[in-house]
Amino acid sequence: MSVLEDARAALATGPLCDSCLGRLFADRSFGLANAERGHALRVTLALADDDPFEESEDCWVCEGECDRFDWWAEQAASAVRGYEFDTYQVGTKVPPLLEENDALLREDVGLDADAGEALKTELNREVGKRIGDLTGAEVDFGRPAVQFTLDLSTDEVEVHVNSAFVYGRYRKLERDIPQTKWPCNDCNGTGLWQGEPCDGCDGTGYRYDESVEQLSAPVVLEAMDGEEAVFHGAGREDVDALMLESGRPFVIEVMEPRTRDVDTEQLEAEVNAFADGKVEVEGLELATHEMVERVKELDASKTYRMDVEFEEAVEADDFEAALAELDGATVKQETPQRVAHRRADLTRTRSVYGVTGDLIDDRHAELRIHGEGGLYVKELVSSDEGRTEPSLAGLLGVGAEVTALDVVDVQGEDEPFAKDEYLKE
Ligand SMILES: [Zn+2]
Ligand SMILES: [Zn+2]
Repeated sequence: MSVLEDARAALATGPLCDSCLGRLFADRSFGLANAERGHALRVTLALADDDPFEESEDCWVCEGECDRFDWWAEQAASAVRGYEFDTYQVGTKVPPLLEENDALLREDVGLDADAGEALKTELNREVGKRIGDLTGAEVDFGRPAVQFTLDLSTDEVEVHVNSAFVYGRYRKLERDIPQTKWPCNDCNGTGLWQGEPCDGCDGTGYRYDESVEQLSAPVVLEAMDGEEAVFHGAGREDVDALMLESGRPFVIEVMEPRTRDVDTEQLEAEVNAFADGKVEVEGLELATHEMVERVKELDASKTYRMDVEFEEAVEADDFEAALAELDGATVKQETPQRVAHRRADLTRTRSVYGVTGDLIDDRHAELRIHGEGGLYVKELVSSDEGRTEPSLAGLLGVGAEVTALDVVDVQGEDEPFAKDEYLKE
């Protein structure tokens, strides 16, 4: 049958709006709205049959939804008033009865069940276009800032505001600061013990008063005016280790932000003022949501600075020879005794990319070790009673122990953390 014959058959099924009529032929003549297709067919048939022309007041297929594109768009725009967003996406929950009407119409006309376009698709596009006109934002089918869901059965617009992300690197300049909030073990983070403030944490619920997270995330949360902020680090150093020099990559995620386009230079200054020299951040940039997984999963090498103490006097020549052995070595490590109670006992192989060091006196040295992710550096020094091979203690034949350990660099093994595709600017 021809388009006109199909249109005639469609109009014979009952009152139809232009959109529902035109939607049957949505794959024809690109550049027209379905309502234009429907209107043109209705006019053409009236002329061909020399019938009086009549617009349809009612529609048995969409039950009037196609007259409400503007209304839905206004509902959506007012639901996000106060939220800054540059991208959005529209979805529609179409009640099963309306979906059936679409199918019945096609069946009555003798068309395929999926001929033209579904009501849901038309609503998503037409309301979406109008939301763009009202707000100036753009449709994004990937991960938009705001997701609207039109619920036709309740007349409500559900709004999901996606998180915003700030990437950067942090330094931790004081010891005994954990990276993230550390709930008190005594009271399980409740701050209470038998109804009284917990002695273990003075009722705070936290084992440490401050964390890198608590010294940085609240500032970002406030700048973006969100509901909650979460800190994601690229691994973490020990609580008593410093994080120095080039710092460690992190992402702060802000849930339901009202502001997204923050000035990251100013934010950096604000965080650093708030952290008061205990923590510093640098290189802040707006990032995509994929950056969270990246900082958590990317294989990274680490560089450590450490103070080492020897049990007996060490000769400078022996020290230099031992470092030369370790430099570039492949090391076999059994799970260290200090973590064996929480990790399966197995032997791993890791590379030492570089070692440099100075003997300060015959009992003390300072070392810098650049190693593959997962290298246990304390054991590389002490040998952990022979469980790490080779080791500094083993090569020297003298007991050796790390007395202070700081991380000075964290870099992706194969590529940098901050690749452009993960950044928004
Ligand atoms: Zn309709
Ligand atoms: Zn407590």
